[in-house]
Amino acid sequence: MPIQILPAQLANQIAAGEVVERPASVVKELIENCLDAGATRIDIEIDKGGAKRILIRDNGSGIAKDQLGLALSRHATSKIDSLDDLSAIATLGFRGEALASISSVSRLSLSSRTAEQEQAWQAQAAGRDMQVSLQPCAHPVGSSLEVLDLFFNTPARRKFLRTEKTEFSHIDELLKRLALSRFDVALSLKHNGKLIRQYRIATDLDKQLKRVSTVLGAPFANHCLHLDNQHDQLRLHGWLGLPEVARAQNDQQYFYVNGRMMRDKLLQHAIRQAFAAYLPDEQYACYVLFLELPLDQVDVNVHPAKHEVRFHQARLVHDYIVQVLASALSKIPAHNHTGELP
Ligand code: ADP
Ligand code: MG
Repeated sequence: MPIQILPAQLANQIAAGEVVERPASVVKELIENCLDAGATRIDIEIDKGGAKRILIRDNGSGIAKDQLGLALSRHATSKIDSLDDLSAIATLGFRGEALASISSVSRLSLSSRTAEQEQAWQAQAAGRDMQVSLQPCAHPVGSSLEVLDLFFNTPARRKFLRTEKTEFSHIDELLKRLALSRFDVALSLKHNGKLIRQYRIATDLDKQLKRVSTVLGAPFANHCLHLDNQHDQLRLHGWLGLPEVARAQNDQQYFYVNGRMMRDKLLQHAIRQAFAAYLPDEQYACYVLFLELPLDQVDVNVHPAKHEVRFHQARLVHDYIVQVLASALSKIPAHNHTGELP
């Protein structure tokens, strides 16, 4: 076969393989866009585990009529415009790939209105050539994205979808992570028309702990330490479960770096080390922790799903976390420890 440039939709479908694994990954990309648009309220409606329909409505900035087509194009983003920007990324998105990828493997429509516009507009990415058609619609300031029939045109991927219940549980888990990362945003989640979760805006620490309790349960909320440490340019804050609420699985570990949820080896190692004297090997600590550091000290451009980070001063960050957590743990009265004391 001679070398040829792939048609746009095929290229997008190939790229979709990286970002769109299942309905929950669509929901993740769409919610991140809402947050980047400054939304304070996001409503999510899911039908049939997301395979049938995903609708996400926000009250963010909206997208101007003449930008709607661009929003759906590959490598089109309003978030970076130079290589320099890549070294200090403040938004959750920046690849300009999500909407193009999602629209290539579903029937997508995007309705939006900016504060400057009287009229809202809807864009539909239909057809194999990625043509976008615009029509007027009713919508308050903000955006709604509807994704119907995910993977309808990529049967091989559709086959990999699990049961409705499993796919929905991935979405629910994702929403928990997001709910913990943004206490200043109200979130609601419906499945097949039924309201499943509602997270109200939590302005003070008490209300935030309530949200934490909704996600991790009362035992965690009643047996955790709140910590908030600042050292030079590093800040570590959040809630640390006492050793007595440690679990046999690592399903209550929420760690955020500059607002992004991470599952990173270096971070996990640091936490394990801090808990070494308090927990047996087969027990996992529970926590909701936030690490804040200057944007140019960390590289999030490591992986499309963005679960890993690269710290410029990895050793320093690692040791800082160990030290803050170990010091917090050392102040717990001894009767709270389940493990052997050193
Ligand atoms: P990225 O988030 O990496 O820029 P996306 O494909 O996810 O790429 O989105 C493309 C562009 O569409 C964004 O840069 C943004 O300008 C716009 N956009 C997408 N979703 C929204 C939204 N909910 N509100 C406002 N603008 C949006
Ligand atoms: Mg995005």
